[in-house]
Amino acid sequence: MKILVSNDDGYLARGINVLADALSRVADVVVVAPDRNHSGASNSLTLHSPLRVHRVENKRYFVNGTPSDCVHLALAGLLDEDPDLVVSGVNHGANLGDDVIYSGTVAAAMEGRYLGLPAIAISLAGPRPTNFEAAARVAVELVQRLERDKLPADVMLNVNVPDRPYDELKGLRATRLGFRHRSEPLIKTKDPQGKTIYWIGPAGPGQDAGPGTDFDAVENGYVAISPLKVDLTRHEAVPRLDDWLRR
Ligand code: MN
Repeated sequence: MKILVSNDDGYLARGINVLADALSRVADVVVVAPDRNHSGASNSLTLHSPLRVHRVENKRYFVNGTPSDCVHLALAGLLDEDPDLVVSGVNHGANLGDDVIYSGTVAAAMEGRYLGLPAIAISLAGPRPTNFEAAARVAVELVQRLERDKLPADVMLNVNVPDRPYDELKGLRATRLGFRHRSEPLIKTKDPQGKTIYWIGPAGPGQDAGPGTDFDAVENGYVAISPLKVDLTRHEAVPRLDDWLRR
């Protein structure tokens, strides 16, 4: 099996290196990742400046672009042949609920949606996560499971692993995305010249975080696996909108 590994924390991040090393033991791995931290980049593409690819070592590259750029480049001509799937991560921090809208980790996986197997975004959920080996082992297990027993390729798996040693994980759970409360307010401060600057505040706490959600699974020590689709259409609202337009 051929796997393209990317992330949004940059090619030097511990998460991607632990992941790539673990997957290399069971698959043919190529890494194409951003040259720096692009967390929160979502599905952005760089359209107004050129992209340069640097080879760190055999089959490991970094790019002066976003997570989506990296996977796009890899699949649209950089690699000689398509991988079977994209695995993105291991992200330094959770991607739960509406985090996926902003996540570069999820975006990198999403850019692999045309491949033969479901793309996987994997994140280590904790404020300062440390157990990357545990998350990488979960990724390896999922890849091996997919190899034995395929899932439709139009599903993406958004995986969140509680930050604890592998032996302390309670198991795998199929979940849905929860929702967060609104983000914390902006942080308003001054730059050294006395001008006002703003920091985006932290994500809000879980709001819809009850049983069945990714929040709940992670909170209880389970690996949360939410199947995602790219189609954002709210299909059941199309007839109602049509009605409204005709009134
Ligand atoms: Mn990140």
